[in-house]
Amino acid sequence: MDNDQEPIRVRFAPSPTGHLHVGGARTALYNWLLARKSGGIFILRIEDTDISRSTEDNIRQIMESMLWLGLDWDEGPDREGKHGPYRQMQRLEIYRRAADELLGSDKAYRCFCSKEEIAAEREEARRASRAYVYSGRCANLKPEESAACEADGRGFVIRLRAPSGGTTVVNDLIRGEVSFDNALIGDIILVRASGIPTYNFAVAVDDSQMGITHVIRGDDHLPNTPKQLMVLEAMVKPAPAYAHLPLILGPDRTPLSKRHGASSVEEFRVRGYIPEALCNYLALLGWSYDAETTIFTTGELVEKFSLGRVGATAAVFDNDKLLWMNGYHIRNLEPEKLSLRLEEYIATTRLSGLPGTGGRPGIEELIPLAQEKMKTLADFVELTDFFFLPPTYEDKALAKLRKDELAPEILIRAAGILSGIEPYDAETIEEALRRAADEMDIRLGKLLQPVRIAVSGKLVTPGMFETLAVLGKEKGIDRINAAIKMARND
Ligand code: GLU
Repeated sequence: MDNDQEPIRVRFAPSPTGHLHVGGARTALYNWLLARKSGGIFILRIEDTDISRSTEDNIRQIMESMLWLGLDWDEGPDREGKHGPYRQMQRLEIYRRAADELLGSDKAYRCFCSKEEIAAEREEARRASRAYVYSGRCANLKPEESAACEADGRGFVIRLRAPSGGTTVVNDLIRGEVSFDNALIGDIILVRASGIPTYNFAVAVDDSQMGITHVIRGDDHLPNTPKQLMVLEAMVKPAPAYAHLPLILGPDRTPLSKRHGASSVEEFRVRGYIPEALCNYLALLGWSYDAETTIFTTGELVEKFSLGRVGATAAVFDNDKLLWMNGYHIRNLEPEKLSLRLEEYIATTRLSGLPGTGGRPGIEELIPLAQEKMKTLADFVELTDFFFLPPTYEDKALAKLRKDELAPEILIRAAGILSGIEPYDAETIEEALRRAADEMDIRLGKLLQPVRIAVSGKLVTPGMFETLAVLGKEKGIDRINAAIKMARND
């Protein structure tokens, strides 16, 4: 940050009408990265004016997902700063004052048109195939007319006296100059009859009052920006810089939605994704550092991120790439960190009978066996549950065991060999089983397959020698003995 510049102040402003989904998470991430990179301030503002759809539970979920991703805020609902409160429904007084000022300077007016009158105007526009713009019928009510309507008990909205001609130009940091025809915007509503501000009014008031320097948000808000600029101008307040992020599409090139599978951060967490991977992946949905680099730690993102390298074209969400990236980040986690992540994962997803409950073997003992093979934290459970639970034999595995004519003989021999092994460690087990395969004149893999199925019930497991060692002699031999019967089909 240059010393002579004002510190950057950015905000993430979710409407708590649902959980945090990947589009919102990317917006939050870009704002957070810019703040952290420049030593600026990141604000969380809850836009809860849609009272029928906003819930406390959604607010809690959004905050939890953000913290899980590591996107902490400097000012927000639970971190009141001098620009608070940070929930719009707690700011009604602020909007009321702002609206009164605009009324006082005649930059806004009270509109008493009834719902029916507005509906008729809309219908007329629809019939004439033109976009609906408010006629301005109440724009020139005399003060006494306005007072009479009010005395009559008629409800009113407050409208901005907006420019009727010319254009409003948004100078977008990503999209460049985008012009909007003022005639197509009209006198927008600032405050509804209920006293609750509209989205465009509340955002303009808040961005200005909170000293926001950069508004970074999804492309879907671009058409709102000229309206917010008009409000700012009427309030004689400077406008922040705007950066509208490209849309995120699903693989079929339609806007990403639930139809495309997991779309909330919470869903990805439950599926065993780790925040390092999700942040890395989300960062690349619209931004690139260069043509090659795909792997970034969050620290590297903070260092390298810039709005200048955010592209304007839509980004396609690729689940396979995210899964690959998750595996990559899992393999690169220090075992201690992976252990913490797994403990948290198992505890919060309430998987029963699995490690983390203080039993043996502990997570740390299993990590060396599973880390290389995992793409998600859920894979760890999949790869290691048989250490704790009696194996459930997959149909495919059982069929393989039964088809293998040598299986009973292999299992009988393996049980005998294992019972004589001392010390019972991976190396000694490997030596003994290799020798047995030589003696039987079969490949090692051929020998290990029925053993693997016997102890795990699965076709894919961590390395067999390590698995047998960690499982322990008694458990291993018991399971092999039980499988001999299954292999013989009796
Ligand atoms: N509350 C809006 C939303 O959730 C965002 C508004 C903004 O960033 O200006 O889409």
